[in-house]
Amino acid sequence: MPLFGALEAGGTKMVCAVGDEQGNILERISLPTRTPDETIPEMLAFYRGKNLTAMGIGCFGPVDLDPTSPTYGSILTTPKLSWRGCPIVRHFTDALGVPAGFDTDVNAAALGEATWGCTREVANSIYITVGTGVGVGVIIDGKPYHGMTHPEAGHIIVAPHPEDPMPVGVCPYHPNCLEGLASGPALERRWGRKAQELSQNPEVWTLEAYYIAQAICNYIMTLSPQRVILGGGVTHQEQMLPLVRQEVKRQLGGYLPGSALENLDSYIVPVSLHDNQGVMGAVKLAMDAASSSGVPHL
Ligand code: ADP
Ligand code: ZN
Repeated sequence: MPLFGALEAGGTKMVCAVGDEQGNILERISLPTRTPDETIPEMLAFYRGKNLTAMGIGCFGPVDLDPTSPTYGSILTTPKLSWRGCPIVRHFTDALGVPAGFDTDVNAAALGEATWGCTREVANSIYITVGTGVGVGVIIDGKPYHGMTHPEAGHIIVAPHPEDPMPVGVCPYHPNCLEGLASGPALERRWGRKAQELSQNPEVWTLEAYYIAQAICNYIMTLSPQRVILGGGVTHQEQMLPLVRQEVKRQLGGYLPGSALENLDSYIVPVSLHDNQGVMGAVKLAMDAASSSGVPHL
């Protein structure tokens, strides 16, 4: 049975896993993200000797996904300075001698759900994570979408609520982007406490839903996804999902009738793979890399 290495590379932790072609995760460890000099050898030690057919990497970004670029497979302008310019894919292909698939962390998570989870019966979907940052993975015709680069749809501009006590967000680049106004750190700055300690404050989640819904309405209008997945630490607040659906309905204003939007409970959904969507997507990236490099794995 062929085995695939899967890495979900995040700014705070690296989830390293081995999976099979059914998406079963057979082994999984989590390492803190320190510097590349420290963390890459630790990760390689986990994968070595496991007779892997290929690697798949879903990585925090921005990343270079252009296969014709000399810096393909590198991390670009991340605020985590020691990782800036790191040729992460090359580290793995050189050390392990196997082909590697590469994408953003959120495209990988979207792909995991689209292959084995709650979007497997639709060809076009998006995965939104609201956590330390906000990121959006986009699946078009069954494949992660890349354009000029990859989508950075966590940074779309949203209209501040007229009664928002913090109408200028925490993003250093944009005064009122979604990430700046709705990420975990934005909640903490606005309300003076960590997001997980704000469950009992309904005004927090009404405002949060207002921003997330604006973003979803914009994605609906531009990408026309057949299903929208909401994940990330902040969405552990279960009272928020119904508020988001209600607010999306209100903001759409009755436009786009007669579609999947009629039942928002099955249109805007929580993650289905229990926080394995990222590594499972990385397994699929590895499987695709093996197929396209001619490695027989089936
Ligand atoms: P990351 O984005 O770093 O990969 P997470 O998706 O867990 O990781 O996001 C971390 C953010 O989510 C933090 O800002 C934290 O405050 C927030 N968070 C974590 N758990 C909860 C919770 N139960 N309710 C609300 N916010 C949470
Ligand atoms: Zn921004």
